[in-house]
Amino acid sequence: MDSGVEALIKYKMFIGGEWVDSVSGETFESYNPYTAQPWALMPKGGADDVDHAVEAADKAFNSGEWPALTATARGHMIRKFADLISERADHLAQIEVRDNGKLIAEMNAQCKYLAQWYYYYAGLCDKIEGSVIPIDKPGHFNYTVWEPLGVCACIVPWNSPLLLLAWKLAPLLAAGNTAVIKPSEYTSASTLEFMKIVEQVFPPGVINVVTGFGAEAGSPLVDHPKVAKVAFTGSDVTGSAIYAQAAKHMKKVTMELGGKSPNIVFADAHIDNAVKGVISGIFAATGQTCIAGSRLLVQKSIHDEFVEKLVELGRSAKIGDPSSFDTQVGPVTNVPQFKKVLDYIDIAKGEGAEAVLGGGTPNGPEIGEGWFVEPTIFTGVKNEMRIAQEEVFGPVLSVIPFEDDDEAIKVGNDVIYGLAAGVWTQNIGRAITMAEKLRAGTVWVNTYRAVSYLSPFGGYKKSGIGRESGKEMIKEYLQHKSVWIETSNAEAPNPFVLR
Ligand code: NAD
Repeated sequence: MDSGVEALIKYKMFIGGEWVDSVSGETFESYNPYTAQPWALMPKGGADDVDHAVEAADKAFNSGEWPALTATARGHMIRKFADLISERADHLAQIEVRDNGKLIAEMNAQCKYLAQWYYYYAGLCDKIEGSVIPIDKPGHFNYTVWEPLGVCACIVPWNSPLLLLAWKLAPLLAAGNTAVIKPSEYTSASTLEFMKIVEQVFPPGVINVVTGFGAEAGSPLVDHPKVAKVAFTGSDVTGSAIYAQAAKHMKKVTMELGGKSPNIVFADAHIDNAVKGVISGIFAATGQTCIAGSRLLVQKSIHDEFVEKLVELGRSAKIGDPSSFDTQVGPVTNVPQFKKVLDYIDIAKGEGAEAVLGGGTPNGPEIGEGWFVEPTIFTGVKNEMRIAQEEVFGPVLSVIPFEDDDEAIKVGNDVIYGLAAGVWTQNIGRAITMAEKLRAGTVWVNTYRAVSYLSPFGGYKKSGIGRESGKEMIKEYLQHKSVWIETSNAEAPNPFVLR
């Protein structure tokens, strides 16, 4: 190590139970967003690496120990995996912070909670049951079974790599599938560290990782004929391209995409709680979360008072080193995203919105060389402005006043997305009506950003297809087979007529 530059840690991919370099031998650097310095080298995977990984996953799906396990034994294996994840949670959290710049306080809690997805779906393994159908054709017995799909591709973004992976990997394993994971090129390290746990538990080939870029590693994975399903989390633009590509092969997909979620505050809300909820909805994780409550709809009668309190709390946020437990706002994860957020701030100003908080980059010794954007609040925003319609994925809040419930619903729903919404009111009837009328996969009332392995998560409209978490969604990784058996031994009927 010299002049403060970190020695690069060299990672390998995990394919067929082995640690390998890319076939091309090429690598790329992974950066620490706080120091803006590279800290790790990742193999730059391509179509050949994808092919090796899919072949390994296909072999593990069709032969050897994994398909021979009883459902109960599969559950035990996943439970053992969950135990080891819990033991390694602190280490995984540190890697996440180093690679994606999110706060250690949040990553610690997230990595400790990760194991719950694996425990939960481990319990479901031996509760995947078909049924006997009381069939209407005399002399026939008909039953159904749920079968795994085969090799599932998991394509994951950079904001919460291991959590968003757990939402896919835990149920797909419980259903008996195998996996090829393509983490984000910005945050591959935690997934590779995670494979050090995988190799202690699962037979070779059940879980594989190819690192690399979207076009070179992600696209061949979606295109591979032996991949049965693509589970994707990322932007709606990439999601649409993957959906179209998967359609060519009639692959199944789940898509968890972007959002522009309204956080709606009525005059009858518990105001101080609402202020905290709105701040946590947009500035936690530096706004780099699909569920960011990036449009604040606030009732006109409390607009000025509410904005004043927001600005006061937002201004007090401690910005700095994400590995410090008392830091409240960390850096943006990568340079393109940093530029994109600053571009949107300029767009908002150009559209006539007023930055009543932030609106630029902070400075000071605690910022270092990192990619920081100030927590920013815009007032004077109209819902048709780009800053109110497009996903920024950064710490930028647009405040839009509304008159009454009808207007809140109309404006709340007037975006292409429908991932989440928040409602702040002490009127239970209003809360229920808003929950019914808002076109979003999750509605929070007097809370925000709560997620659980028990409750379905996913988007309406352009925010996605399918759901993750909860017991119903295991069917996203299964297919339903109907089996007919002739039981009467009667003479076969006219072969040219449908029975
Ligand atoms: P992205 O769409 O740019 O990339 C996501 C992943 O797709 C990466 O691994 C990338 O390498 C890969 N990829 C890119 N092009 C590809 C292609 N042609 N074929 C196959 N793979 C390809 O998203 P991002 O910038 O990493 O993440 C931010 C986005 O993710 C935001 O829009 C955010 O809202 C969304 N997100 C959604 C959820 C959710 O659950 N709904 C959660 C987190 C993030």
